[in-house]
Amino acid sequence: MAIAENGSSFLDDDRDGLPAEKLFSKGYSYTYDDLIFHPGYIDFATDSVDLSTNLTKHIRLTTPCISSPMDTVTEAQMAAAMASVGGVGFIHYNNLATEQAELVRKAKNQRVGFVADPVCMKPSDLVAKIDILKPNRGFSSVLVTEDGGVGSKLLGVVTSRDVDFVTNRLTELGEVMTTDLITAPAISSFEEASKRLIKSKKSLLPLVTNNGELAGLLCRTDLKRMSSNPSLGAPSLDHNGRLLVGAAIGTRDTDKERLELLVKAGVNVVILDSSQGDSIYQKEMLAYIKRAYPELDVVAGNVVTMRQARHLIDAGADALRVGMGSGSICTTQEVCAVGRGQATAVYQTSLLANSLGVPVIADGGISNSGHIVKALNLGASTVMTGSFLAGTEEAPGDYFYQDGLHLKKYRGMGSLEAMAKGSDSRYLGDKSRLKIAQGVSGAVADKGSVFKLIPYTMHAVRQGFQDLGVHSIYAAHGNRALRLEVRTGAAQVEGGIHGLVSYEKKRF
Ligand code: 5GP
Repeated sequence: MAIAENGSSFLDDDRDGLPAEKLFSKGYSYTYDDLIFHPGYIDFATDSVDLSTNLTKHIRLTTPCISSPMDTVTEAQMAAAMASVGGVGFIHYNNLATEQAELVRKAKNQRVGFVADPVCMKPSDLVAKIDILKPNRGFSSVLVTEDGGVGSKLLGVVTSRDVDFVTNRLTELGEVMTTDLITAPAISSFEEASKRLIKSKKSLLPLVTNNGELAGLLCRTDLKRMSSNPSLGAPSLDHNGRLLVGAAIGTRDTDKERLELLVKAGVNVVILDSSQGDSIYQKEMLAYIKRAYPELDVVAGNVVTMRQARHLIDAGADALRVGMGSGSICTTQEVCAVGRGQATAVYQTSLLANSLGVPVIADGGISNSGHIVKALNLGASTVMTGSFLAGTEEAPGDYFYQDGLHLKKYRGMGSLEAMAKGSDSRYLGDKSRLKIAQGVSGAVADKGSVFKLIPYTMHAVRQGFQDLGVHSIYAAHGNRALRLEVRTGAAQVEGGIHGLVSYEKKRF
């Protein structure tokens, strides 16, 4: 190639990175870590990066992050938290249909900033019960109600100040609880309740109905945390102003009954949950749902190729879930020899789906904000995460200590342990009887609260977009200027922390 004197001809060839279309046409299966993007030109501020996006054809979100329908990731608390920060959570179905519907109802009834389901005890419960609570939950304040639950008459509050110096731990809570309470009406807005809590100088503000029944709680620690975090995206709300909540179902006949309960509970969007979604079962289920509930958006998948994507789009999918074998707990590629590197899968399926107006959810393999930047710039509209959110306060399960680390359980839905509870339909097709694991069971580190993790992560994602010179997800999907390269093994090592004897890695 002739080199022009002013060097301009260098800019047009492949020396300065490859356009995505060229890189992905070479027959390799790339993961996010294989690739590195080249920086673009910055002419806007980080804060002006717009991460609003489409979850499905009809549902918009302000935060492109959603939680996976796994039983160690998404139940009511996670779904409510994710919707509160502008994303959405999909409640798992490794439970009875009635239980799943109840979780949907519970998540939808929560309100941003409030604890809808605070820990309650009866006046006859013992101080020793609070001692058990503290190591597992990390707090020791409880509300005392007549029958020990929400919805029953509020009698008092017990904080550490009430029990620290009680030597007889068999003392009943009724004897030590504080009864001189400041409360707020159940219908208070977050702003009204916050003002009252600050003025009261207390640590807790219970919300009560006109009859004095406990309806919710505002905590000083939550309030402090929310005001010190970067601002949240607008919450994801449905037409009635309630939190947007998703749920997963399978494709068996019994899932039709499950779906009916979920719809009655107010579910806004469902996922047809399968590790290989290009099947007659998904096609038939999609057709059934579109007939029975034409207003309900359906996410189909998982797929990793254009051909699979085309089948589900033609069958009426409102979004595609993309990923096979890329999940952190997943052994599908090892066991079944099928799947695709996640970066390639996201790029190829998005190319087709975006041209037909169907958003792609990049599912699995996300372990840092850089992976999210890559997924969104390769064509995904949202990312779905399991391990990234497992270990947060809002994930199901209690913390425990192992080798000095503070951990929570995280397991694949195709692990033998999860399948023993019933999650086998996702991994065993429709009728298989022998259970072969396609996932493992393990533990992940404590990641704090979703209310901190997501806003900080999204800020990092905005910085990535700014470095790329891309000011929105919409612009990312039409960005023909994106240049990228494959990293050698040594380049990947160099791109991580290296050469230090010791270091402390704080995320924010
Ligand atoms: P992660 O975010 O942990 O990397 O991946 C989560 C994703 O892995 C889930 O959203 C789901 O698609 C997938 N997944 C969950 N459980 C299993 C499993 O047991 N086996 C396989 N193959 N994939 C799983």
